[in-house]
Amino acid sequence: MITPINFYSTNLNTSPVSFSKALLKGLAPDKGLFMPEEIPEVSKEEIQSFRYLSYHEIAYEIGKKFLVGEIPDEDLRWITKDAYDYEVPLEHVYENKYIMRLDQGPTASFKDFAARMMGRLMQYYLKKEKRNLIILTATSGDTGSAIANAFYGLDNIRVLVLFPEKEVTERQRKQMTTLGDNIQIIAIDGKFDDCQALVKEAFTDPDLADLNLSSANSINIGRLIPQIVYYFYAFSRLSNDYNKGVIFSVPSGNFGDMMGGFFAKRMGLLIKRFIIAVNENDEFQKYIQTGIYNKIDPSINCISSAMNVGHPSNLARLVALYGGVMDEKGNIRRQANLDSMRQDIFAISINDKDTRKAIKDAYEQYNIILEPHGAVGWAGLQIFLKLEGNNYRADQLYVSLETAHPAKFPEEIKKILDLDPELPASLEGLEGKDENFDLMDDNYTLFKNYLTEKYK
Ligand SMILES: *Cc1c(COP(=O)(O)O)cnc(C)c1O
Repeated sequence: MITPINFYSTNLNTSPVSFSKALLKGLAPDKGLFMPEEIPEVSKEEIQSFRYLSYHEIAYEIGKKFLVGEIPDEDLRWITKDAYDYEVPLEHVYENKYIMRLDQGPTASFKDFAARMMGRLMQYYLKKEKRNLIILTATSGDTGSAIANAFYGLDNIRVLVLFPEKEVTERQRKQMTTLGDNIQIIAIDGKFDDCQALVKEAFTDPDLADLNLSSANSINIGRLIPQIVYYFYAFSRLSNDYNKGVIFSVPSGNFGDMMGGFFAKRMGLLIKRFIIAVNENDEFQKYIQTGIYNKIDPSINCISSAMNVGHPSNLARLVALYGGVMDEKGNIRRQANLDSMRQDIFAISINDKDTRKAIKDAYEQYNIILEPHGAVGWAGLQIFLKLEGNNYRADQLYVSLETAHPAKFPEEIKKILDLDPELPASLEGLEGKDENFDLMDDNYTLFKNYLTEKYK
């Protein structure tokens, strides 16, 4: 008899629920984040055997560990195969340093990995339960397009994306507004934080309870599990010596990407260190140094715009992994084991000037084109190597994550490198398509009326 893994809330005021409940709810009723009660293990032998598997097969093996007893194997096999039909290149830079490009999905950001799997899993459960859902999400650019694209055309789900009118690039906007069908887009005359606040208020509004609203933001556990996979994948392509382990540099904002890595480590992958590279929003670096957490409000605008986060929404999960409790407002109810955190994490903040320099240097030295987010990770790795590289074997493996395609940020790349990054096939043809979206003031009553008229 297989007992499925249940999911508890980081606020510890909700009874644990099944995976499907956690997936369809998003946020726990006590406003905490869902975490697995048990972290399944992947044996050394399994990890070694991953090098004979393709990406979607590894995704199946990892997914199965969490979803056993929740979803039949053959369905999960089909879902992972269907979701991961694109390349995950590991680009050699120098010596044993690599860049993992997570930018080959349909919207050219790493958010595709999570969105595509989550959409298919949600559809699976909704069909089974004969239910419908409205996904409400706020975006600063990449989440909205990844979710819209991943959920486009699904039967039981309608998607509504709010974006700050003046804060997304034209290309990012067109990735969302040219779809139509079950995808609805609103441009808000405000900032990302305003969009986020409207969405949050709608979720807790009792008048809207019967709308079946759900969130697709990075707090959803259905987004985290898929983000474990590429850590195992990277290792499987680059090393057949389990004990050598790997060091990852992760450019971070809401810490969802990086949480995937922490799960991979707890499951058994020998990750010797995480370099958590953030932009000028350095609240986490300060926290790990001092144990005192102060969010940055409003967040600082940097060129790595998807990482302009002053209070990472997944931080409570990291704190939970290290034995602490942090509530949704960022109050520490029980301190995490900071010593243990410091052993595992090298936290670093990179300003815009150094981000631009990293883009320039990587191109001039290695002929590699990075965009601003990946450049924060790469710059973080360079600093780490200077300060702590000597503590590791000369042949230590390093992988820095590139989270978006440079062609998503053509203006910035043009300024720094004086070239126009080649458009990936997925982004071609957007220019000529018709856009469709509504404009709205930043006002909750307006938003609520809109929801009621459209969806009730
Ligand atoms: C969302 C995003 C990030 C940050 O990922 P988190 O999971 O929020 O830490 C980094 N780079 C790009 C391009 C993104 O879209």
